[in-house]
Amino acid sequence: MVCRESGSLVCVKKGANIIRNGGVVSFPTETVYGLGADAFNPDAVRQIFALKGRPADNPLIVHIDTLYWLDFLYEYIPDYARAMMENLWPGPLSIILPAKGSVPSVVRGGLPTVAVRMPAHPYALKLIEYAGTPIAAPSANLSGRPSPTSAQHVFEDFGDKVFIIDGGSVAVGVESTVVDATDVPLKIYRLGAITPEDIQKVTGKPVEIHVKPKDGRPLSPGHAYRHYAPEKPLHVFKDEEAFMRFVEEHGAIAIALEKYRDITDRFISLGSDEKDAAARLYMALRDADRMEGEVIAALMVENEGVGMAVNERMSRAATYIHGGE
Ligand code: AMP
Ligand code: MG
Repeated sequence: MVCRESGSLVCVKKGANIIRNGGVVSFPTETVYGLGADAFNPDAVRQIFALKGRPADNPLIVHIDTLYWLDFLYEYIPDYARAMMENLWPGPLSIILPAKGSVPSVVRGGLPTVAVRMPAHPYALKLIEYAGTPIAAPSANLSGRPSPTSAQHVFEDFGDKVFIIDGGSVAVGVESTVVDATDVPLKIYRLGAITPEDIQKVTGKPVEIHVKPKDGRPLSPGHAYRHYAPEKPLHVFKDEEAFMRFVEEHGAIAIALEKYRDITDRFISLGSDEKDAAARLYMALRDADRMEGEVIAALMVENEGVGMAVNERMSRAATYIHGGE
């Protein structure tokens, strides 16, 4: 069911009760909606994997409301990782470090490390506070589907099987940046609103981007799986002329920035810039499945800032990428 807040955090309190009792709750964060359970309760966390149909080797991110919890989660924290926490939290950044043995293996997907983040959303922070425990949570979508950016999207995937705290539409719209901070150079496994430059600036350390399997081997388990995909075939374009030609020839549903609106009646706008595109991409992919038309074409945005994350998500959702990867 969807619980809409009326100003007194009643839904957050109900949600916290469910978490305390070993249940699963969907909650808003600034990136996408999460599907959370008590990170220290393995049986509770297993329900998340079952509900999503998520492969057991794909670890979850542990969400905290204060730095107090770090001692219970990480084995150690290098100074440069501490600098990220102090400067970029709360915010869309998940930091991977060696895990304490007390972090259940199911949360870590069997890895010796754990990803932790402090979300910048008042409901998420209050939910963790009232639950009195860190909350392990992936995105609240069925595995492989576009991530949810509204309570309605969560309801589409899970219906009444999950208690959903409605926090309206999210601000960022793409998942957190994931950085492996176990070693220098730092490695980014997933791009997000916090950029490699942001991380380089606050740590003073070199940063590498590893968002694809290297020599066929995924560095992060998530790299092995297809993500974010709509049901209809999705063709992703780098080149605007090729995109427009394809839309015309195939009568495709077009997903692109607002300035391309006139190219077809079957148009879904990504807004006016990369930031808008991040906030709207997953909704656009879900809407396209409901629109008349057999095939979807999407045009990448400028590959800068959060635009890099948008283009990466489009590529991962694609059935075909035109013009190379
Ligand atoms: P989601 O929870 O759906 O946003 O996905 C979390 C992402 O973070 C997945 O792509 C995971 O593979 C990645 N991740 C989480 N924990 C780790 C870890 N300890 N090592 C490497 N990647 C991780
Ligand atoms: Mg996900």
